[in-house]
This record gives sequence, C-alpha cells and structure tokens, in this order.
Amino acid sequence: MALIEYGVTLCPLCGEPINTPEECISFPHFIEDRGDPFWQYSDAAFHKKCFESWPNKLEFIARFETFKRISEK
Ligand SMILES: [Zn+2]
Repeated sequence: MALIEYGVTLCPLCGEPINTPEECISFPHFIEDRGDPFWQYSDAAFHKKCFESWPNKLEFIARFETFKRISEK
C-alpha cells in the first residue's frame, strides 16, 4: 500500500496534508504506465471526503477492480 506519513503526505486531490487514518483512503501501486492519466493516483492516499466527491472516482475504482481480477488469476 501507499506509504502514508500523517500530517505530511498530501492528498493529490486537494493538496492538503492527511492527518489521521480515519480520514484516509489509500490504494496500492496498480498502474504501471506513467502516461496513464491515473498513474499519479495509483499508490496514493486521499482524504475520504475528497475521494468521495472526485468526479473520476467510479472510473478509478473500475480500473482498480480490473487490476485485482487480473492479479488474482
Ligand atoms: Zn483532500
């Protein structure tokens, strides 16, 4: 999973630090292609409230689900 240092790690959606585990949601590194628009969000931690209101949330989750299906085979 993403390495998170509370109070230091910045949420890529709002640019503010993530201060507590309770407000954090994180994803492992699952996109290899640096040209992928979601690459910077793979292996990242977000504020839950930012992630919930992120317009790309559903597409991102779909990508992650696809990755999990492939990697579990
Ligand atoms: Zn945020």
